Amino acid sequence: MNTKTTEQTTMTTMDALWKKRPIIISGPCSAETEEQMLATARRLADTGKVDMLRAGIWKPRTKPGLFEGVGAKGLPWLKKSGDITGLPVTVEVANAKQVQDALAFEIDVLWIGARTTVNPFSVQEVADALRGVDIPVLIKNPVNPDPELWSGAVERIARAGINRIGLIHRGFTSYGNSEFRNAPMWHLAIDMKLRYPDMLFINDPSHICGRRDNLREVMQKAIDLDYDGFIIESHCDPDHAWSDASQQVTPETLSLMLDQIKWRKEDTSSAEFHIALEKLRNQINQLDDELMQILSRRMKIADQIGRYKKDNNITILQTTRWNEVMDRAVSGGAGLGLSKEFILRYFDAVHIESINHQKRIMDGEE
Ligand code: PEP
Ligand code: MN
Repeated sequence: MNTKTTEQTTMTTMDALWKKRPIIISGPCSAETEEQMLATARRLADTGKVDMLRAGIWKPRTKPGLFEGVGAKGLPWLKKSGDITGLPVTVEVANAKQVQDALAFEIDVLWIGARTTVNPFSVQEVADALRGVDIPVLIKNPVNPDPELWSGAVERIARAGINRIGLIHRGFTSYGNSEFRNAPMWHLAIDMKLRYPDMLFINDPSHICGRRDNLREVMQKAIDLDYDGFIIESHCDPDHAWSDASQQVTPETLSLMLDQIKWRKEDTSSAEFHIALEKLRNQINQLDDELMQILSRRMKIADQIGRYKKDNNITILQTTRWNEVMDRAVSGGAGLGLSKEFILRYFDAVHIESINHQKRIMDGEE
């Protein structure tokens, strides 16, 4: 373990860390006692795989009466954890006072929680408190699946002059979803990644899963999708954690899980790989062109049917016929390795396009 040489992680160290891949942030959901915090921090540092420590001290709980964090008295524990391990530390902040307290204890990185990102007033308050301060900020996705709200928070923090901003994907509330505590809705997160391609983009498997047994699967998926790393909860005694017990793992289990991940790179300099990839991509382009031509032919036939329907005064939508098309497609697709879910979505889109074509004919546009 190395110790911090200066009071706070120096800017150059932080700059280097910000670019490190994968970047692993870990620590308990909540700092509970000084002993728990220090023991967890030491064991995490001993794995040699953790780049930054996390802990919540102000906990936004869904219901009153649950453990709402130890408050500012936990800040010296966090600072001590950083000092003895040499690792930078991050804490969640939700208002101006919390920002000031965290800065007073030289916390290295701040994060904005999912319940704060939903509220532009709170995000603006945090942003105003950060004006003129040079500290990196991680922004969790809002609890509701709204990328606009998420990027609104990014803009507010960026406008306050913060230039190291990271995104944390922690999943979205979705009623009735039982597999995940927060549905990942990967496409929404990828949409954000495409909006901010140069921004640190990390995954929070703990709050997506809400339990331990599927953490690894979610972590692998994130790495396959080229995430830059993780913020993952770890506790010295997970079963007795005061918050989020069911999703926390020991530092040693975290270390094992990280060993089991198949790390992938987005790019490689190998010429052979690039040539092979180029060939396959050309084949895909070719097939996509053919698919478009076939779809266009399909729509022309739909147009013809539309004309017949118009001449014979028949409705555009004939449910029995459409069910027959779907049934054929689903059973045909199964034998071709195409999932039912895909076939349904694909044919739905084709159907809408077909109806639009026929409607234009009925309305006499063609
Ligand atoms: C947390 O990280 O402990 C937390 C409260 O997460 P979220 O804001 O994603 O619910
Ligand atoms: Mn938590």
